[in-house]
Amino acid sequence: MNWRPHFTIGAFAGAIVALALHCEIFIIFLAAIIGGISALAPDIDHDSSKIRKAADLTVPIFGIFFALSSSCYTDVLCITDNWKGIIVSALAITGLYTIVITYLKPSHRGIIHSLLFALAYFAVLYAISDFAFALFGFVGYASHLLADGEIKLA
Ligand SMILES: [Zn+2]
Repeated sequence: MNWRPHFTIGAFAGAIVALALHCEIFIIFLAAIIGGISALAPDIDHDSSKIRKAADLTVPIFGIFFALSSSCYTDVLCITDNWKGIIVSALAITGLYTIVITYLKPSHRGIIHSLLFALAYFAVLYAISDFAFALFGFVGYASHLLADGEIKLA
């Protein structure tokens, strides 16, 4: 299945969960986006997938933002004090991604297409955001496995 139906199904899954949680309209919209993008995530194990191309671009950017937000949570001015640490963490995130994708390259529809990985994905989102967002991401991710008809534990 290519990325469009996966995105649509994931967006619906995210929005439905947000509706069930009685979220306000903005959060429902956000949940749809998170669910949709998360539904693309499993195909990162596919070399020519949309998400892979997007990830090659966004992971370094995300790395910078993550490093910024984790070291300068309240004060923007601290960037000048912590710039070395920020660059190091951003490079570490990008490097880790590159190593995993290039050298450990999981087979298509392998471990990444599993509930175990969906849970790991949930855990990562939960660590960097909050429970509701992690849940939107999880249902999006899980919707991909359902749509592929590949429900396995690990
Ligand atoms: Zn797939």
